[in-house]
Amino acid sequence: MVQKHRATNLHYDFRLEWHGTLLSWAVPKGPSLDPSVKRLAMQVEDHPIDYANFEGVIPEGEYGGGTVMVWDKGTWEPEVEDVDAALKKGDLKFTLHGKKLKGSWVLVRTRGYGRSSDRSWLLIKHRDQYVSTRDVTEDARSVLNKRLLADIAREGGGDVAKAASGDPTSKSNAPKRSARPKRAVARAKTRKRAT
Ligand code: MN
Repeated sequence: MVQKHRATNLHYDFRLEWHGTLLSWAVPKGPSLDPSVKRLAMQVEDHPIDYANFEGVIPEGEYGGGTVMVWDKGTWEPEVEDVDAALKKGDLKFTLHGKKLKGSWVLVRTRGYGRSSDRSWLLIKHRDQYVSTRDVTEDARSVLNKRLLADIAREGGGDVAKAASGDPTSKSNAPKRSARPKRAVARAKTRKRAT
């Protein structure tokens, strides 16, 4: 499952249930359906399973303070015999059965610099029928209830403006308005009278 998290920085928390816990990676740019795009995924501490359905507001000042959305949900299956060995090796291939993310993927550990080098991975889509150049993060609503981050913040008493900065600015996410602008309506009425 994937949580979209507008904390100090916007990121996507990519989580795989394994041995009774949620293995977790923070993906700043979110997943890409394009196999030529490698997305940095910083491994973070395992999370308890019951965190998987959390959607709401973490108070500012607490760790991860901000707004959390359940962005994608589903099951996964390893494409390797030994998941623990794959994790240790830093090359885990798996299949996702999510609402937004499907098909074959890999998490591969990179050789980075410094202290966090062993926590630095790349999330990459494998070639299959689910590859696309479409930006899947534009599908920006909660998989549970279609809310945007701003909606979740508003209903949870959080920072709406901060949350909204993690929502796309495209027209499809703008509040719904009457399809026809007022002027056009007025003109249509005039025309109607004239005939
Ligand atoms: Mn997070």
